[in-house]
Amino acid sequence: MGTTDPAETPRVLAVGDGFFVRQAVDNIAWIDMGEFALVVDALEQPQLEKEVFDAIRSTLGDKPVRYVLNTHTHYDHMALNAAFQQRFGAEIINQRTSPAGPRGRWFEGSRRRVLMQPAPGCHTEEDCVVWVPQDKALFVGDIFGWGLIPLEAELGNESARLLAQTYGRVIEFAASVVIPGHGPLATTAELSRWVKYFHWLCREVRQACSQGKTDRQITQAIPPPDDMKAWWRFVLWKHEDSLSKVARAIRHGRLTTWEP
Ligand SMILES: [Zn+2]
Repeated sequence: MGTTDPAETPRVLAVGDGFFVRQAVDNIAWIDMGEFALVVDALEQPQLEKEVFDAIRSTLGDKPVRYVLNTHTHYDHMALNAAFQQRFGAEIINQRTSPAGPRGRWFEGSRRRVLMQPAPGCHTEEDCVVWVPQDKALFVGDIFGWGLIPLEAELGNESARLLAQTYGRVIEFAASVVIPGHGPLATTAELSRWVKYFHWLCREVRQACSQGKTDRQITQAIPPPDDMKAWWRFVLWKHEDSLSKVARAIRHGRLTTWEP
């Protein structure tokens, strides 16, 4: 059985001049800011230190990494934090080490400027997006999961409302390149598509539940949309996972007032 999973083989992609993403199951990026480099997210496996440091050196030379930005503080985004501190004296920036206000914080270099801005409520309370205006690139951490309902919190009226609202703000960046925490790179089109999908899912599942359908019947009655079938691991398990999260929320009376 051949595999076409795009994340299985790590690949270093150039997003812009001096701007690289190592795309894999966990993504890490390094950006030439001019006098220094800035890293976004720091992977799950500490044993990738040598490979990542070699890749940074071969693309940016000896430029020191001054900042490591974590989109949030889940362990699978922080494994190399300590290595960057040790090697470069890098400063670790996330909502725990140095909380940013709602308007965020700019990192200024002679070559680029980068904005880290809180966008809480989609995945965790401390989610941040990282915007690189020169390249129209936006890091979204685990806010976007190629079809996953990203909420760590329970799905319900309040969390669904906040999720949709925050997505609206994230989409407003109108990024050309969207870099999720995991898997293939995306675009703003997929962010918008996911919101539509989420709303559609809530409506369809609500109707199916009101008709007394079982989980099995719901899975059969609501297949993955054709245009999303190629999304990373979507047909494999994410669509079904999303269906069951929504069904559970509806059955437990948590998704009652929120109207997509
Ligand atoms: Zn996470």
